Amino acid sequence: MPTALITGASRGLGKSTAKLFASAGWDLLLIARDEDALDQLSIDLSPTGSSVLYRPLDLSKPNLISPAIEDLINDGQVPEVLINNAGVAWTGDLLSMSLEKWEWLMQVNLTSVFQVCSSVVPLMRNKGGLIVNVSSHASRNAFSQWGAYCVSKAALSSFTKCLAEEERKHLIRACTLTLGAVNTSLWDTETVQSNFDREAMLSEDDVAAELLHLAQQPSHLVVEDLTLMPAVGKF
Ligand code: NAP
Repeated sequence: MPTALITGASRGLGKSTAKLFASAGWDLLLIARDEDALDQLSIDLSPTGSSVLYRPLDLSKPNLISPAIEDLINDGQVPEVLINNAGVAWTGDLLSMSLEKWEWLMQVNLTSVFQVCSSVVPLMRNKGGLIVNVSSHASRNAFSQWGAYCVSKAALSSFTKCLAEEERKHLIRACTLTLGAVNTSLWDTETVQSNFDREAMLSEDDVAAELLHLAQQPSHLVVEDLTLMPAVGKF
């Protein structure tokens, strides 16, 4: 069975994606901070017959990342697909943001992706692999109150294009899934203030289906970016 490593798998998009991949016959390597949620997910997925291994890991702590990823892969196997999905948001005026918050957001949304790729991609080289980085249409827009998030996702999209260029000679493909608003727990986190219509947003299942679609593309082609937006509303 192919293996996917998914970050941010305890809830939201990552959890729905893990469920869909397991039902499609993938083995899973899962990362998030919430160990109880990962444990429950692995129990819930046991009827699928997929191997589900997980590590609790705080991606805001740079020194913890490579040992945890390497340990997880040693227990399982090198993934064919890496989905860098974990992410955080913060709303407020750019210049009212503390340096500490700025560094936290950039670490989780951008630098941790660089770190996870640094651990995983060299192991994928020459046998082939796909990296999917979950970006946002905030990467292409300037949304008031979402400045740091916009900057982090713009940089993530640029990182992905540069990685794809450098790694194509090693048979590694890298792409972004660029999303409009999705109805997930992100909108309930205390750092996000908004009154958007949750019902008009994309669903977690819509996004999981697109991630599986990307993972199933033949290795001789790459979808460099797939943009998925709600058809109604202002997202
Ligand atoms: P979510 O429901 O808040 O889930 C976020 C996931 O990231 C959780 O599993 C969380 O796990 C994990 N995470 C957060 N901080 C972490 C940390 N420090 N270390 C490790 N894991 C951490 O958000 P979501 O909507 O599913 O977001 C998934 C991705 O989609 C993000 O990259 C987000 O930017 C992107 N996106 C979302 C939307 C949207 O409207 N929802 C739109 C565009 C793009 P723990 O809390 O257990 O650590």
